[in-house]
Amino acid sequence: MKRALAFLFATATVGLAAWMVFPRSRPPEPAQSPAAASSAPAAAKPSPDAKGLHEARWYTSLADGEVHCQLCPNSCRLSDGQIGRCRARQNIGGKLYSLVYGKVAALHVDPIEKKPFFHVLPGKRAFSIGTTGCNLRCLFCQNWEISQLLPWETATTPLSPEDVVAAALRSRAEAIAFTYNEPTIFYEYMLDIAKLAKANGLKTLVISCGFIEPEPLRELLPHIDAYKVDFKAFSPEFYTHITSGQRDPILRTMKTIRESGTWLEIVNLLVTDQNDGEEEVRNLARWVKENLGDDVPLHFTRFHPMHKLSNLPATPIERVIRARQIAIEEGLKYVYTGNIPASPGDTTYSPKTGQPVIERRGYFVMRNTLVNGIAPDGEPIPGIWE
Ligand code: SF4
Repeated sequence: MKRALAFLFATATVGLAAWMVFPRSRPPEPAQSPAAASSAPAAAKPSPDAKGLHEARWYTSLADGEVHCQLCPNSCRLSDGQIGRCRARQNIGGKLYSLVYGKVAALHVDPIEKKPFFHVLPGKRAFSIGTTGCNLRCLFCQNWEISQLLPWETATTPLSPEDVVAAALRSRAEAIAFTYNEPTIFYEYMLDIAKLAKANGLKTLVISCGFIEPEPLRELLPHIDAYKVDFKAFSPEFYTHITSGQRDPILRTMKTIRESGTWLEIVNLLVTDQNDGEEEVRNLARWVKENLGDDVPLHFTRFHPMHKLSNLPATPIERVIRARQIAIEEGLKYVYTGNIPASPGDTTYSPKTGQPVIERRGYFVMRNTLVNGIAPDGEPIPGIWE
């Protein structure tokens, strides 16, 4: 354990993503279309027993040894030996177990801006971890080499919550981020780490697709400082066909986060000709303003060919810039662009005077004029600043 932790820690501190250096196999091609697969559990690989596994939460036992997982809207009903659609939870002998608790597949110390959070601890660092698995099947997934795998299909390192928090403190990061794959599916592990992290003075950040049921979300939120939702598109059809998920549960998640007081930022990846139309962008901006408020940061990021959409060209830069203009026209105060070099959309401006308040180049903060969250013109800028 000590050697494994030392390896991961050393890897993190020199700035290399640990999962990049692990040998790993390619994920199998799905046998079904994303839409057809949306309600089907992942292929079963019966585990001989539950020895060493952590019992999952948010499930009920059914007749005949079945279990019903209620952690996310996939709502899997699993017979003995079956694995959930997320590839992270398995029915073993009539109980549901997490297959990924304590099994870290990715670890890195990142700038918080890389998550991206632009209103959380500017210029600070996040000790970032992920496991394997995901409850969506996005055709453009950037981390498919871990998100679409079962835990035994790649190298993972066993780290207890205590190990993770100790390593984060040693790295001098100010926060722990749950990221890379979908944190919802390692819910129990995330919750245990988050409680321990808060007790040790660290901030906690979740980077999520938002596909989670409200009850487990409400239990998690008091232990989370900031939540970033990767909102895929305002079109329900895009969700069905491109992600195999559903849009409305994610709109509900964003409302629940906002009501809780946990800081929320939204990212919308604009995929070429799929969700980057002006009307769709305008509808999203209107929904955010009416349902969440005008001061929730909204980031539009540029798609690059990836995974099963590698046939598409990168999003034209002018469409990303236009999306930002549309959201500003609709009354949102903090609208950003991502994956565009040296863009005005990297900067935070005061809504009062339009003056730059925090200037960035990519993930790096070049100038920060905020004092206790107040801009030089006296305007309070919402966020977590210390
Ligand atoms: S968390 Fe996994 S097992 Fe549970 S409902 Fe969602 S996809 Fe199914």
